[in-house]
Amino acid sequence: MIFVTKTYLPNKETYVEKINQIWDSHVLTNRGPMVLELESKISDFLETSLPLFVSNGTIALQLAIKAFELEGEIITTPFSYVATSSSIFWEGCKPIFADICKSSLCINPEKIEALITKNTSAILATHVFGIPCDVEKIEAIAQKHNLKIIYDAAHSFGVKLNGKSIFDYGDISTCSFHATKLFHTGEGGAIFCKEDELMKKIKLLHSFGHIVDDYYTVGINGKNSELHAAMGLCVLADMDIILEKRKIVASLYNSLLNLEKLKKPTINENVQYNYAYYPIILESEAIMTKVRNALIKNDIMPRRYFYPSLNTLSFYNTNFQCPVSESISSRILCLPYYPDLEPENINRIANIVNQNL
Ligand SMILES: *Cc1c(COP(=O)(O)O)cnc(C)c1O
Repeated sequence: MIFVTKTYLPNKETYVEKINQIWDSHVLTNRGPMVLELESKISDFLETSLPLFVSNGTIALQLAIKAFELEGEIITTPFSYVATSSSIFWEGCKPIFADICKSSLCINPEKIEALITKNTSAILATHVFGIPCDVEKIEAIAQKHNLKIIYDAAHSFGVKLNGKSIFDYGDISTCSFHATKLFHTGEGGAIFCKEDELMKKIKLLHSFGHIVDDYYTVGINGKNSELHAAMGLCVLADMDIILEKRKIVASLYNSLLNLEKLKKPTINENVQYNYAYYPIILESEAIMTKVRNALIKNDIMPRRYFYPSLNTLSFYNTNFQCPVSESISSRILCLPYYPDLEPENINRIANIVNQNL
């Protein structure tokens, strides 16, 4: 069986060696030495500010919303994983869905402005599949209307835009280090924010709102453990190889797939990409279903990332039309994609796709 992804596991002895250090220190959590080391190494690797390592990418989003004390309406993308809009809803705000761009699959800035009301407090946009949003236009809109910008950068580990880390854009960026993501710690996530005071507040919020015996505010437990940090340190050490291998898999797919009959999102020249996913957009939902069924029959499990379009979820009680997102959601598939996907299997997958277009 070939799944859409296969979690990268580092050398077991290297991991055990880290676990032995935990046995020696007897520190398992509460920002121990490995969590601090991981944060510092992530900041070096990405060439960005020090992140805060948290328990997952969803709590990272919730903490970002809480830190800004956001209320009312948050304009967001319908084309993302459900955690993006559910975090907004969970925090008592209303997700307002702006349609996406056909080429980047990210939120369309032209659609944002028309949705701004006196109740709008922020824009929460996803760099979907690691493809950067139109950050300049979003920044201009946010400045004009005094809105906060939060980027869900769950897919964007290692991405650079104009030579700068993608995590440098917006007021806060979040990442997920879930086992299915490009860089992972088993479960985990991070918050990136250049403003020291805000970062201090987030740190307080993620640790019950108190520092030892001084209680400041209502908080939550968003901390992550030394065991997860140990995994992260091992995976991070192999990151250059992981990225290199993913690039090779992508170029093999590119050369084998019939790209005349399927579309891929556009990645601009000013982006240093991380090869996070391999999405293909088929001509119709019927063709997508045909391709998907043919792959499944061969024990190959692609995923409908991202389906359904989030504006269609009834439990948000919203009613927004996002025709571009709805159309793309209905006919997109992410093909199996991981560093050790064998060339024979890439070939096999590409043939099955091509035969069913
Ligand atoms: C995975 C993901 C999340 C959630 O991250 P977890 O670490 O699984 O909580 C949020 N947003 C997007 C876009 C994701 O893909």
